[in-house]
Amino acid sequence: MAQNRVVIAGAGPVGCVSALSLAKAGIPVTILEAGEDLELDLRASTFHPPTLDMLDQLGVANELIDQGLVCPRWQYRDTKEGIIADWNLGLLNNYTRHPFRLQAEQFRLTQIIMKRLKVMSNVEVRFGCRVTETKQDGNGVTVGFDSDFGADSLRGTYLIAAEGGSSHTRKTQGIAFNGLTFPEMWLIVSTPFDFTQHFEELTPIAYVTEPDDWFVFVFVSGLWRVLVPTKPGDTPEAILEDDYIQARLQKICATGQNYEIAHKTAYSVHQRVAETYVHGRIFLAGDAAHINNPLGGMGMNGGIHDAINLCEKIIKVWSGQAGDGRAEFARYDAQRRPIAHEYVQRSTLQNKQMLEEQNPVTRKKRHDDLRRTASDPDAAREFLMNSSMIRALEKAAVLG
Ligand SMILES: Cc1cc2nc3c(=O)[nH]c(=O)nc-3n(C[C@H](O)[C@H](O)[C@H](O)COP(=O)(O)OP(=O)(O)OC[C@H]3O[C@@H](n4cnc5c(N)ncnc54)[C@H](O)[C@@H]3O)c2cc1C
Repeated sequence: MAQNRVVIAGAGPVGCVSALSLAKAGIPVTILEAGEDLELDLRASTFHPPTLDMLDQLGVANELIDQGLVCPRWQYRDTKEGIIADWNLGLLNNYTRHPFRLQAEQFRLTQIIMKRLKVMSNVEVRFGCRVTETKQDGNGVTVGFDSDFGADSLRGTYLIAAEGGSSHTRKTQGIAFNGLTFPEMWLIVSTPFDFTQHFEELTPIAYVTEPDDWFVFVFVSGLWRVLVPTKPGDTPEAILEDDYIQARLQKICATGQNYEIAHKTAYSVHQRVAETYVHGRIFLAGDAAHINNPLGGMGMNGGIHDAINLCEKIIKVWSGQAGDGRAEFARYDAQRRPIAHEYVQRSTLQNKQMLEEQNPVTRKKRHDDLRRTASDPDAAREFLMNSSMIRALEKAAVLG
């Protein structure tokens, strides 16, 4: 079969970034998205500096920045001790064109990209098409899907499986997704309540410890999102009860009055990485390939980094610069999978352990270490190079 197109399963941030990268290079793309439209769920809200640099290369960063909140600073705090570390991303000026975290919902990115894709003549977007079967042979892939018009299939040269954590392709291709699911669910609530009046110098992103608990503040689109862990065995119904939510918020900031709640979500938290990202002509990217807890905001960012890395390789192979592509695609796996294990999984687990720590001696040591790091510009820069995922990208570039 002559090269015909790349099929992408899923129009989340990773599927959309992949589609735009390939289409801009002149490669025909078909996206199959199970939903009738783009998802509007409230998940990722933080874009890290190198991700914004990549989105800028694709020509979509400025529109996203216009819709979001530029955050040059973020904090670790403690309810008793106040600010532990106040990180200034300006220290990364020489390493990124975007020395800040951008607070914007992930659907803003998918909407911006979808507008572009819809007017590109080499892109076909098919909503309401759920991928149900994937087969491959020496020449290409056959992707089966269900739609309102019944079952159908199409052929492509390659398939990018970007259908999220429960990727049908990953499961049906028998690719293991090893790791763990935490026994407790996490709760996110959004409220217009102004926490800045009660937490001195609060930045729009703050990870906050208490002697016996922790929570995260994130400000996005005019609302404060508060993330709290719950207890193993707590059901989603119980967690989403108004009394439960009000009690959790009152513990964080006692107002004596009910909080206005704009959104609430309870969700399970996993740490898993696929055993391979490359299975012949089928590639896993984003949550289909790796999932982690959201502390540090690395899931979507890492997924976009996958998409950019993979598409560079597809473009090279498509243009005849990399033979049959086997070695090139093996590099995608070799560059991105270790980063998910050694960097994203490790950092997000460390973030969780740090917030959960209840031993007063260990807590004091961690807080002292963070204070020392934040007060030394070289050490703080190195900390930010890691937490902003710049070091992870540097490391990936020399792998494989
Ligand atoms: C509460 C929360 C907060 C988070 N905050 C951050 C953050 O600040 N920063 C960050 O980097 N990450 C964050 N994440 C993680 C982030 O949301 C995910 O990593 C990101 O959504 C992954 O993008 P994706 O495109 O791989 O998958 P998804 O966003 O899950 O998109 C998958 C798409 O595929 C479609 N689909 C599914 N099955 C099929 C099928 N069979 N056929 C066709 N289409 C299909 C779905 O409808 C969906 O549109 C957070 C996650 C949570 C839960």
